[in-house]
Amino acid sequence: MDSRKSVTTEICAILCIDSSNFFYRACSLCERTLPEDHPASRCCIHCANRYATSASAGSKLLFRVLMSIATDEKVFNVICFDRVARALFGCSADEFWDFARLHPFATAAANRVLEGELFRMSLSTPKNGNAQHLRVTSVVPVRSEYRPVIEYVRQLKAVMKDS
Ligand SMILES: [Zn+2]
Repeated sequence: MDSRKSVTTEICAILCIDSSNFFYRACSLCERTLPEDHPASRCCIHCANRYATSASAGSKLLFRVLMSIATDEKVFNVICFDRVARALFGCSADEFWDFARLHPFATAAANRVLEGELFRMSLSTPKNGNAQHLRVTSVVPVRSEYRPVIEYVRQLKAVMKDS
């Protein structure tokens, strides 16, 4: 990897994802990060003050997935934010959370789907010097048969019901 360039594209295998916590809550209007226990029905205090009429806009979950990946040269941790994680999961963070709440196997299954899967990833050095991990800015599966996590867990649910 050339350290002078801020973005590199590599073929990477996902080794595992940190499934203990891959969501965070944000204001639906400004996407400011909110505390985890913030009610889903309320937007942030700033937006509530500013747009008195849209106080019902609420908050939403966004993906923030820490994962360990390997190139042919090394193993390292990267962070994947909402837009990119949606491509891996095939749904929004709220949709996945709703599914996983009813079907707790989904979180472990997400790891199983992604583990060992190859992606062409663009990695960028965080602009914020304090940020610890490289950021994944785009992700394209190498296998054309790759199916996003949500499709896999939905199918798994259907199979479990039949058995
Ligand atoms: Zn807001």
